[in-house]
Amino acid sequence: MNIHEYQAKALFEKFGVPVPKGAVATTPEEFINALAQLPEGPTMVKSQIHAGGRGKGTFTDGYKGGVKFCQTKADAKEVAARMLGNTLVTVQTGPAGRKVQTIYFTVASDIKKEYYLAILLDRNSSKPVIVASTEGGVEIEKVAHDTPEKLIRVLVDPAYGLADFQVRELITKLGFAGAEAKNAARLIRNLYTAFWETDAAMIEVNPLITTPTGDVLALDAKVSFDSNALYRHPEIVALRDLNEEDPKEIEASKFSLSYIALDGNIACLVNGAGLAMSTMDIIQHFGGTPANFLDVGGGASKDQVIAAFKIILGDKNVKGILVNIFGGIMDCNVIATGIVEAVKEVGLKLPLVVRLEGNNVAAGKATLNASGLKLVSGDTMADAAQKIVKLVA
Ligand code: ADP
Ligand code: MG
Repeated sequence: MNIHEYQAKALFEKFGVPVPKGAVATTPEEFINALAQLPEGPTMVKSQIHAGGRGKGTFTDGYKGGVKFCQTKADAKEVAARMLGNTLVTVQTGPAGRKVQTIYFTVASDIKKEYYLAILLDRNSSKPVIVASTEGGVEIEKVAHDTPEKLIRVLVDPAYGLADFQVRELITKLGFAGAEAKNAARLIRNLYTAFWETDAAMIEVNPLITTPTGDVLALDAKVSFDSNALYRHPEIVALRDLNEEDPKEIEASKFSLSYIALDGNIACLVNGAGLAMSTMDIIQHFGGTPANFLDVGGGASKDQVIAAFKIILGDKNVKGILVNIFGGIMDCNVIATGIVEAVKEVGLKLPLVVRLEGNNVAAGKATLNASGLKLVSGDTMADAAQKIVKLVA
C-alpha cells in the first residue's frame, strides 16, 4: 500500500525525521487556510499523486511541472490553482497520467547539496538494506546503471537492528562532517526505526538535503507498506487513498481476489499464483498479451468466480477470456458451476476458453457441456492458450 508525500512526511515527523513545514489543501478555498500556516517567502507547490518524477512531469493541458518553486505565497496560490484537478503525466504514471486531487504547500528550503537515501528489503539476503548516494535529486535508476559505485549499500541484521558502526559508515561515505554528520546520523537512525516499526516495504527520500546552516532534511518522501502486515496498523490503513487505486483492484480486494490489471487483451482467471504466472507466460509465448493477473485462490467460491468475471469484463480492453484451473484442493465442478452462472449473469459475448484439470474434472466438464454455453474447451495449457490467442486475433 502506498501513501502520499504529505502523509509520509507526517509519519517522518512522528519518528523525528526532519521535514520542511507544510500544509495540504484539496479545494481552492482551502489554499488560503493552508498557506496561512506557512511563513511568507519562497514556497513549493507539490502535486500529491502516488507516483514519482512529478517535478519533471507535464499536465495533459501542457502546463509543465507537478512540483514548482514560487517566490511568494501569492504566486503559490496561483500555481496550485493550475495543478488542482489537472492530470499529471510523469515517467511513473503511464501515458494516462493521474488527476491531482490534493496540493501540498511547503516552505522552499535553501539547498546546499542533494543526496539519495532509501530503506527497502533486500530479497537476496532477506534483510533490510539502506541505499544511499551523494548523487541525489536526479533519477537514481540512472545512477545505478551508469555509476553503480556511487551507490552505498548497508545491510541491516534484522535481529540486532541498525548498528552505530553502520550509521558511521554511511555518514563517512556520504562525506558528512560536523553538525551535518550529527544531524544526518540522527535522521538515518530515526528513519530506520520508522521503516521497522511501521512494517514498511520501502522508504525513499530523494532528495535528502543539507542546508547552509547544517540542517539535514527530507525534501521528498515515498513510502509503501507490506500489505500482509497492515492488520497490525489500522492508523496506516486509514491513510489509504482509493482515488489513487484502480477501481477494479479495489473491487477485487473486497472479494479476496488477487487481481492486477495489465495492458493486454486476454483476461485470465486462474487458481493459484504460480499457475497465474505461467498462464500469463504461455499467453505471451503464443503471441498474445494478458489483460490481467487474477488468482481466485485455492478454495474459490461461486460468488468469487462471478465477481472475478465482472471485474474482468469491466476492463474495456479485454477481447477474450482464458480460464485455467487446476483442481487440487479446488473441486473442478464448483468452478464449472461458477463459470456457468457467471457467464449467464453477465451475458458474456466474448470468446471464452476453459481448461480444467484435476479433482472431479469429469463432473466439471459435464457441467460445462450440459450448460449449452458457447465456450471452447482446452485440453492442455498450451492448447487452451493457442485457442484463445487465435480467437482474439
Ligand atoms: P519528484 O521526485 O516527484 O519530482 P520532489 O519532491 O523530489 O518530487 O521534488 C522535485 C525537486 O524539487 C526536488 O528534487 C528538489 O530539487 C525540489 N524540491 C522539492 N521540495 C522542495 C523544498 N521543500 N524546497 C526546495 N526544493 C524542493
Ligand atoms: Mg523526488
